[in-house]
Amino acid sequence: MKKIAIVTGASRGIGREIAKTLAKEGIHVIANYNKSEQKAEELKKELKRENIDIDIFKADVSKREQAHELVEYTLKKYGKIDILINNAGIAEFKEFTQITDIEWNKMINTNLNSVFIMSQEVLKNMIHNKNGCIINISSIWGLVGSSCEVHYSTAKAGINGMTKALAKELGPSNIRINAIAPGIIDTEMNNDIKEEDVDIIKNDIPLGKIGKTEDIAKCVKWLIEDNFTTGQIISINGGWVII
Ligand code: NAP
Repeated sequence: MKKIAIVTGASRGIGREIAKTLAKEGIHVIANYNKSEQKAEELKKELKRENIDIDIFKADVSKREQAHELVEYTLKKYGKIDILINNAGIAEFKEFTQITDIEWNKMINTNLNSVFIMSQEVLKNMIHNKNGCIINISSIWGLVGSSCEVHYSTAKAGINGMTKALAKELGPSNIRINAIAPGIIDTEMNNDIKEEDVDIIKNDIPLGKIGKTEDIAKCVKWLIEDNFTTGQIISINGGWVII
């Protein structure tokens, strides 16, 4: 039977690329989206043209009930979950003193609590099967912090801590948990960055370029195939951050 993977936030950007890569590898993908229904449908159609079937499922994964429905849908249809990619996320530039409670909670709910909720929901099945692979999409800012992105950096640092602790707890159940911490990747998330600032960033990056969604998807594929890597935060950033 095919491996079953849930990819959160698969309508656009990095999640979409991960969903495509895994589906082309013969893994059955449940591509989650929240607001971008049309883009999710386009992804399904695009893969269908290559005779590849995926499921798309609308859920705000920061909400327990909706995350539960996504997992229940998958389990009812396919009976198991082998892989969870916690990719859904938002970004916001704001001075720390200007961040409201609502903005802080939205960031932590979307970028951190969703990882807690989705992981808990799938782990019931993974622990039962003594098999599983969870990959969390973090960020370099969770490693080194970013000015005017304190709430984002805090959420991503939380993901890194969760990844390490959970890997220790669930290694004995044959479940591997890793995170990927990308540097700057060419997606809509960075649409607000001015072209001249992109050039400045490129100059700062030893490899002299912005990353592509494929760079992250390739690492996800490798982490799924591997069976001795767990609790690691793998940073793919062109050498921008080396720790
Ligand atoms: P993106 O192009 O803005 O896409 C974000 C995706 O997340 C969309 O598919 C969106 O779905 C989904 N999403 C947001 N909130 C959601 C929610 N509550 N429930 C379900 N889905 C939700 O961003 P991206 O650049 O691909 O980022 C993907 C991940 O990589 C994020 O976790 C981000 O922090 C991380 N990352 C990105 C970069 C970068 O430079 N791009 C760098 C480091 C880390 P809908 O549109 O359907 O709502």
